[in-house]
Amino acid sequence: MGNVQSTENLKSYKMFVGGAWVETSETSAVVNPATGEKIAEVPIATIEELNLAVKAAKDAFDHGEWRDFQPVERGRLLYKVANLIRQNQKEIAEIEMLDTGKPFNIAMFEVEIGARYYEFYAGVADKIMGETIPIKDGILDFTKREPLGVTAHIIPWNGPFQMTSRSVAPALATGNTVVIKPAQETPLSTLKLAEILDEAGVPKGVVNVVTGSGRVVGNALATHPDIRHITFTGSVETGKTIMKAAAENITPVTLELGGKSPQVVFADADLEEAAKVVASAITLNTGQVCSAGSRLLVERSVHKEFVEKVKTHMETLKIGSSEDNADIGPLITKNQLETVEAYVQYAKDNGAKIHCGGKRPNIDSNGFYYEPTLVDGIAPDSKLAQEEIFGPVLVVLPFDTKEEALEIANGTEFGLSAGIWTSNINTAHWLADRIKSGQVYINSYSVGTGVEIPFGGSKKSGIGREKGLEALKYYTEVKNVAIKYM
Ligand code: NDP
Repeated sequence: MGNVQSTENLKSYKMFVGGAWVETSETSAVVNPATGEKIAEVPIATIEELNLAVKAAKDAFDHGEWRDFQPVERGRLLYKVANLIRQNQKEIAEIEMLDTGKPFNIAMFEVEIGARYYEFYAGVADKIMGETIPIKDGILDFTKREPLGVTAHIIPWNGPFQMTSRSVAPALATGNTVVIKPAQETPLSTLKLAEILDEAGVPKGVVNVVTGSGRVVGNALATHPDIRHITFTGSVETGKTIMKAAAENITPVTLELGGKSPQVVFADADLEEAAKVVASAITLNTGQVCSAGSRLLVERSVHKEFVEKVKTHMETLKIGSSEDNADIGPLITKNQLETVEAYVQYAKDNGAKIHCGGKRPNIDSNGFYYEPTLVDGIAPDSKLAQEEIFGPVLVVLPFDTKEEALEIANGTEFGLSAGIWTSNINTAHWLADRIKSGQVYINSYSVGTGVEIPFGGSKKSGIGREKGLEALKYYTEVKNVAIKYM
């Protein structure tokens, strides 16, 4: 591959600007979280290099051959990208596995989701329509949905390939150009994606990948006057910084900022099924998922019984690397591991009961592993029940009535996802109507791949929606044209 040089155990990557692979004078290390070993070096872009990427994207939008791509041709191009991703699925999944530590089968699944985004938006590229508006005789008024221009994509480390694809695919389908800034911890699959987009025939400058820190490169991207939309997934604090930066140029933002999502389990639910899904919704990707079901609200009459069931599922999960055929991998960094440990220590210091986990597993590895942990006996307004931990830590909060369940469910700053478990259709709808959350699942959680359904949050979980047809609104703006003909 032209963009990677390999020595025995270390790969050196270049970044992708204006259709060319570019080296920089400074590089940063990429570490495999399953072993703690350095696996690659990637460029650290300077602000000048970032500016060149934005210029390449702006030139491609304003003058390049991209402008001549008809909607149907953009669609065909995206189908080609989806096919190339599938042809390279194993290689991309291996890159993702080494870079993020996630088990290989999960990485394979996420790469397939990535392919699905290009496929889904390929199909709608030539179906983005305006409307005619009746005014009076002699006037024809119609709207058009036009691309915005250069779009910025600031990506986190927890699902890099599929998250990059979920915003890049609709941005391209609608005719925008793109500058991507992956997380420093996990840039490798995004660089591979650039190679695939290039091979598929995406014109030069339409997609650019610039690596480096969020503080410098990400900030320069968010404040750049030629950026016409920013899509960001990550922490609330960084989301606020980006929103302030965007305000300078009145740049629209889509922010997906995580959550503290409740799983509300009533005594009349299928407790076996609920326990299985509740355990998996906090341990998938080692809990490093924005929509992780991280609070278990359980009706008091089945509290003890249900907690036992969840605990059993958590304890049967195998922790380790892909080579060990494990169910759950490591946390992304030593720092994230220490953050999770500090939360659980705080719970212990404040008299919480730890039903299981609460420590690093006893395995022979320098990876950043932590056991699935079930914390009970804490108040709904305590730090552990309020803050996003981003690890495999589930807090248990019993309730007596549906009104109390609602109050606890809505009692955080977040509003991303919610699960409701009950066999009573009235209870299910009563709660679904009142929970402040971007998405609600009833007797399920995160069903399907989610490519087709809108995704985003209320309150501090964010602004705007990704995925599905809904996302197209954020990558286009409406132009109204009025024609007087009589
Ligand atoms: P951040 O929100 O800081 O990072 C996400 C992305 O934003 C990265 O690409 C990062 O770059 C970039 N970034 C950081 N600062 C800026 C800035 N000033 N301007 C522009 N871009 C910036 O998350 P962290 O990685 O620090 O994780 C901290 C916590 O955030 C986690 O524990 C979790 O709670 C939450 N989080 C939520 C995610 C979600 O899916 N909603 C995903 C990831 C984290 P870089 O890291 O390369 O410096």
